Amino acid sequence: MPDLDLATLIVVTLVVNLLVALYMALLARLQPQQSAFRHWAAACFIFVLASLLATGRVYQVPAVFSVLLAHALLALPPLLVATGLLRFIEGPLAKLPWPPITGWMLVYLLALGSSYSYHHSAAVLNAAAIVASCVWGVKLLQQIEHPRFINRLLQTVLALHALTMLMEIYLYLRYWNTALPVAVADILQWILSSHLLLTTVAAVLLPLIFFITREQTLLRQANQDELTQLPNRRYFLQESIAYLTRKGDNTAATVMMLDLDHFKAINDNYGHNTGDVALRQVAQILTQELRKTDFIGRLGGEEFAIVLPDTTETEARNISQRLRQQVEQQARVVDGKALGLTISIGAVYSSHFSAGQFERLLKQADDALYDAKRSGRNTVTFYCLG
Ligand code: GH3
Ligand code: MG
Ligand code: MG
Repeated sequence: MPDLDLATLIVVTLVVNLLVALYMALLARLQPQQSAFRHWAAACFIFVLASLLATGRVYQVPAVFSVLLAHALLALPPLLVATGLLRFIEGPLAKLPWPPITGWMLVYLLALGSSYSYHHSAAVLNAAAIVASCVWGVKLLQQIEHPRFINRLLQTVLALHALTMLMEIYLYLRYWNTALPVAVADILQWILSSHLLLTTVAAVLLPLIFFITREQTLLRQANQDELTQLPNRRYFLQESIAYLTRKGDNTAATVMMLDLDHFKAINDNYGHNTGDVALRQVAQILTQELRKTDFIGRLGGEEFAIVLPDTTETEARNISQRLRQQVEQQARVVDGKALGLTISIGAVYSSHFSAGQFERLLKQADDALYDAKRSGRNTVTFYCLG
């Protein structure tokens, strides 16, 4: 590797950090509800300010500013990265753990204030503070699962940075009483490049992790029924039609409409909350009884719909009866109350199903459901269209 001129490296580091700070500030403006961006923008601005103060040493700026104040500020950026992660993971209004943060900052400032003019003390203390913040950042990231790859990458970058800082501590302690040999000074220069790498990678990954997670949440909210966690009407129709379109014409499939019996009376007698628990319980029974490849959705109120792909008529008849029986057995008691909950099912089987007919078949299943209700409820009406 060619030798990097230290001055160039410092200038590049400062410029990159300034650009990243402006980028984070822009994101903070665009996403005012996500306070994490404000933490990360502040981290970069403070890093630039502190580094400028630190370079003041070369220009005979008094040590109170170029060492003490610079190192006091240099402990903040990694801490702000971690607090930003906390707000990102636990919500933009999550409470920060002020007592330990204030306590450790006081310990740090006292140690720094009493020893900053002594050998490499300021650099060692600062590196130790950075290690602590990086470890906290890794621990926070362990709380979230997705997006897995980016999360792991970010954890690795933080862990590597902590290791680099530990190496820095070792080197400064090893040459505590002497001037640093040239080779060691070179290593420290590489350590400075690690700061640059950390900032750049974090600047790319932090917003990415935020936007991917938010998109997943928005998609879930758009597609899922909040109460039962089942696909909502729109998503159920979209997915079923997409599947049938992929399959082409003449697919054997069954469409079912399910409706809870006398549900209004359950709400009236036991309260809306118990009604909600009953809806969730039925959704759970349906999910556990059906295959992963079946489509199931809550169409609204106490109505559910199901598409059974690649299913023979006999299988579909058995499945619909099994669903009815399982609800009858498992939802006899809901929320500790003997509701005796049952469902009625209208089902339509067709051996030459096509996406274009889907809405019509759904309507026919609804007619079958109406028949099931008329014939006394807790029954299945099954139409076979051949
Ligand atoms: P049937 O056997 O003929 O289907 O009678 P039903 O009482 O089940 O049907 P009806 O259409 O008269 O009443 C449906 C009830 O479902 C009325 C409504 O308050 C209730 N409902 C709809 N959505 C929800 C919900 O999300 N939670 C609760 N608890 N109740 C709901
Ligand atoms: Mg009903
Ligand atoms: Mg209904």
